[in-house]
Amino acid sequence: MLFTGFIHLSGLSAGPMVRPGRSRPLAGPTTVPLFRRELVICSLSSGSSGNCTYIGDGHRGVLVDAGISPRQVEIRMEDQGLKNAPINAVLITHEHQDHVGGAAVLARQLAKKRKPVPFWMTRGTWEGCKPACRPDGAEFIEAGDAFFCADIGLDAIPVPHDTVDPIAWRVRLGGACAAVITDLGRPTKLIARSMQDCDALVLEFNHDEQMLLDGPYPLHLKQRIRGNHGHLSNSQAAEILADGAGPKLQHVLLAHLSEENNRPEIARELATSVLARGGWPATVHLTRQRAAVPAVRMDVNPFG
Ligand SMILES: [Zn+2]
Ligand SMILES: [Zn+2]
Repeated sequence: MLFTGFIHLSGLSAGPMVRPGRSRPLAGPTTVPLFRRELVICSLSSGSSGNCTYIGDGHRGVLVDAGISPRQVEIRMEDQGLKNAPINAVLITHEHQDHVGGAAVLARQLAKKRKPVPFWMTRGTWEGCKPACRPDGAEFIEAGDAFFCADIGLDAIPVPHDTVDPIAWRVRLGGACAAVITDLGRPTKLIARSMQDCDALVLEFNHDEQMLLDGPYPLHLKQRIRGNHGHLSNSQAAEILADGAGPKLQHVLLAHLSEENNRPEIARELATSVLARGGWPATVHLTRQRAAVPAVRMDVNPFG
């Protein structure tokens, strides 16, 4: 069920009784949820070879990043029960190939098979994109902007990463809020604050620091990844999660895990222990590079 609405019922079995002669019920009206709304988050691919996440509520939806082929977007959405899920916009975080590699083709495919949609990004990201990756329908925003597109609230949050003008995205729809926060070199207060009212997070847990140091990457690449404009280590991600997790948080998807320099169980254990220490009962999920992971579905209050 993907509808919205609550209704106040009196005199029905679920509601308060009204005695004859009384004009008001004995107790206040009972609110009975007649309709539910569901927020769906589905990581279609996550990692240095391609990123794409679907967020929707059955009425509206977005893709965050387009780093895999449109064919894979289609197949993986269908596999996760999202065949006809609406796509009202595509949100681009930055111009690295693993985030925009499929953008131009995806824009053409959406225009042909569904309808043209805006691809929101900073002007810096557009300028940093290889011309072949630039999608038709690009719309420009500035890092820090908060706006609506098709009744979906969108916040572009600046992040430190080694591209021209990178952002993370916060998506507000169906009374819920989800954020996709990957590709940043260090935790920032702004990011932690932006997480605090989120129901769900897709958060980078890129590498284990010791595995990266001991691993096969050349020194310059190790330095880039560890740098302030590289990627979040597990412990940096744990720090930002401890700082930013809030009482609404229901799900955390660990994202952009390095296949060379991380192990999913290390990241999962760290995230789980941080949430337990903070008293947040959120569920931790892993994402994958070569496959979608089962869509996370949560009930939300459409008026929340
Ligand atoms: Zn990336
Ligand atoms: Zn990147």
